[in-house]
Amino acid sequence: MSQIPFVDLKAAYEAHQAELDTAVTRAVASGWYILGPEVAAFEAAFAAYCGVAQAVGVASGTDAVLLGLRALGVGPGDEVISVAHTAVATIAAIELAGAKPVLVDVDPATLTLDPAQLAAAITSRTKAVVPVHLYGHPADMAAILPLARQHGLAVLEDCAQAHGATVNGQRVGGLGDAAAFSFYPTKNLGALGDGGAVITRHDDVAERLRQLRQYGWRERYISDVAGYNSRLDELQAAILRVKLAHLDADNGRRQQLAARYHQQLAGLPVQLPPVRPSAGHVFHLYVIQCNQRDELAVFLKEWGIGTAVHYPVPVHLQPAYAHLGYAPGSLPHTERAAGRILSLPLYAHMPDEHVDVVSGVLAEFFLRR
Ligand SMILES: *Cc1c(COP(=O)(O)O)cnc(C)c1O
Repeated sequence: MSQIPFVDLKAAYEAHQAELDTAVTRAVASGWYILGPEVAAFEAAFAAYCGVAQAVGVASGTDAVLLGLRALGVGPGDEVISVAHTAVATIAAIELAGAKPVLVDVDPATLTLDPAQLAAAITSRTKAVVPVHLYGHPADMAAILPLARQHGLAVLEDCAQAHGATVNGQRVGGLGDAAAFSFYPTKNLGALGDGGAVITRHDDVAERLRQLRQYGWRERYISDVAGYNSRLDELQAAILRVKLAHLDADNGRRQQLAARYHQQLAGLPVQLPPVRPSAGHVFHLYVIQCNQRDELAVFLKEWGIGTAVHYPVPVHLQPAYAHLGYAPGSLPHTERAAGRILSLPLYAHMPDEHVDVVSGVLAEFFLRR
């Protein structure tokens, strides 16, 4: 009987244990724990990696969306367009910024924001759009960016699942006005605790972010705006500096494992994750679709294989968002996908043989139907 976990965070630690232990000891021994040299060094390295001028470390991905929107001027009375097929955090952050989330459907292939639905949802109150590069696959930025420009909308990319993903060779995060990243431990670039960052090409936006993350301070004890406490700590930044150096190799490994799944699952009655020709997909998740999703998940579990569903209930049908007023059936592609998606085991340090075992058990499931 196989034991194949959906994800194994300890494997990532063990792969770089000596480097991580050194970084942790250095940060702990320094006597400086919040917004110090480790954070500054990580911000500079991460901005350079993403090809933008500025990165600002914050406490989480949720805060990165919230502070990013506020730094772009979003507030009460504004509408912000995004998708319901995302982590609930994306939409929670829009409301935390005081704005009204307007949720649109996804394109049924990549399950990212459908630009035609975006165009149809724009009103005089629309201030910003938040495309989500879900599962590590970039949203259709070639269509979204011109629409946003035409209507004067700010673009905040939600890159929480897409560190290092590309569009025509350019890394996501540098395409819009600003971008939010999460460093939650399971993400492609994961800390050993919570963390996040906002990156931007605009120096004035970065300056507002630096104020917002620390009580709205312009200088110590002088608050220019109503801010937050949302800081990346030195320990996580030291860990992230180590992890960032391995991000491209880790993403390459995820792509190899995805290619292996593709090869082995070809021919089975499941829809495999597509990759747009312009896209560099970094496979935060490997998500298949099939009609017998629930039975398949149970079957895999009986064989000791962990799976997950990202996400089983779209945000517009969550109890906490009933006040937004969307009825079941209002976002058909989103709702159909929610019943059919299944995330298979995939993490950078997963052995090839796990793909082989999972694929074999999947084939066995369909053989028995
Ligand atoms: C993880 C995630 C977030 C939230 O990040 P946290 O660090 O958990 O706050 C936001 N958006 C998406 C798409 C995510 O996957």
